[in-house]
Amino acid sequence: MTYTKFMKQENLINGEWVHADNGKSFNVSNPATGEIIGSVPASGYDETQKAIAAAAAAFPSYSTKPLLERVGLLWKLHDALMDNQKSLAELLTVEQGKSITEATGEIIIGAAYIRWFAEEIRRNKGEIVPASAPDRRILVTKHPVGVVGMITPWNFPSSMLARKLGPALAAGCTVVAKPASATPYSGLAWGALCEEVGFPKGVVNILTGSAREIGNAIMSNPVVRKVTFTGSTEVGKELIKKSADTVKKVSMELGGNAPFIVFNDADIDKAVDGAMVSKFRNSGQTCVCANRIYVQSGVYEKFVTKFKDATAKMKVGDGREAGVEQGPLIDMSAVEKVEELLSDAVGKGAKVVLGGKRHEKGETFFEPTIVTDATQSMRFSKEEIFGPLAPVFKFETEDEAIKMANDTDFGLCSYAYTRDVGRIMRLNSKLEYGMIGINSGLITTVEAPFGGVKESGLGKEGGSQGLEDYLDTKYTALDF
Ligand code: NAP
Repeated sequence: MTYTKFMKQENLINGEWVHADNGKSFNVSNPATGEIIGSVPASGYDETQKAIAAAAAAFPSYSTKPLLERVGLLWKLHDALMDNQKSLAELLTVEQGKSITEATGEIIIGAAYIRWFAEEIRRNKGEIVPASAPDRRILVTKHPVGVVGMITPWNFPSSMLARKLGPALAAGCTVVAKPASATPYSGLAWGALCEEVGFPKGVVNILTGSAREIGNAIMSNPVVRKVTFTGSTEVGKELIKKSADTVKKVSMELGGNAPFIVFNDADIDKAVDGAMVSKFRNSGQTCVCANRIYVQSGVYEKFVTKFKDATAKMKVGDGREAGVEQGPLIDMSAVEKVEELLSDAVGKGAKVVLGGKRHEKGETFFEPTIVTDATQSMRFSKEEIFGPLAPVFKFETEDEAIKMANDTDFGLCSYAYTRDVGRIMRLNSKLEYGMIGINSGLITTVEAPFGGVKESGLGKEGGSQGLEDYLDTKYTALDF
């Protein structure tokens, strides 16, 4: 059990590992077994104010450290993640349920984000813009925004923080972070790692506990200049409203409802591989999971047969077991949501061709499920499924596919399989999504700006854009 190495049972505030002021805590359980694995502080408003004060106190010296010192700390953080990937991946699997292979991948991509932003900050340049007057210069410089509040979800409890900590710490910001209550340990582990590699006290503070109290303390405090949130659109909207009172910068990575379109000219084997990874990764619990699979009529039967054969071979079980590809869902309400959406679809004419019920492995496990004859009237055409249910829709024309794909309030990620270059360019123009995977079902990478349009969010994570969100631009007019 090497995962206990980073399993902190306290919160990190101003360089100290502390309990909640009133000593209260809450339990965390393994979703695969229901077993309680530990308990963490039930912190609230007061503890958050202390963390914000610590981050504010640390900001002047941290933000003015020589750049290479900050970059050096990030490189050490990257190395610490890579050196401890086994323990960190086990911890992630035990609290979140995903397979150890996926958990290891999450730690590695988290480390890659840290390295990426350590590199990006060295090339982040200002500008000297030509002025109309000959004796004037216009300087445009970049400055860290200040104290940043971070709120993250349970589905990627480690890498969602990596995408925020990397740019914030590279830019010179200080941090107050709140991981999800279902998976607090991977978040707290970032505190332990930052401490181990030498980030000064107060630069990174991590709290667990009441979402509402911690959230309200972060949102109402004028010292916090930016809030970066990954989670549901519902909570994101609430935070955007609350940010207005102190006019904070916000980055919002919210829900998705990804269309996955397979055209007649697609490489069907490749499309099936893409659908498998996009639909069933993390048991279907990713914001970029294929939520609606649209297949053109000429290849519909062929695609369904191959997709069904591949899905039927998936090994379901406790993420720690060798060879397991799909673990449990996070909790019973996630299982019930899948059941509700399935029953709605079946009631409206969908046919279950694979799976369709809870899995014999345990109550939080659900069989990888495929339904055909899906239509736009079914709830999953508008709602995020967040589970291993794959609805397949049939379409005839390109225009019809694009219209159905865009028929949602979300706009995070979309996928299309085709070999027609003209069509690829039309999709690039017409799909109302922040991200498009052409002939690929897995497109997240540190070099690219990850993020959505419409109700899927504001701002980008990764790429050079992911750093800009943590910097303010200052204009100085200089007459001489
Ligand atoms: P969630 O319920 O919105 O929770 C996300 C985080 O917000 C958790 O830390 C939660 O704390 C906290 N929170 C809840 N209510 C709050 C409030 N009133 N004020 C402040 N914080 C609050 O989302 P989730 O169920 O954990 O995550 C799944 C959602 O995240 C899905 O919609 C998914 O698409 C989205 N997601 C988006 C991206 C992206 O990059 N676009 C990536 C991953 C996930 P507690 O855990 O303590 O309740």
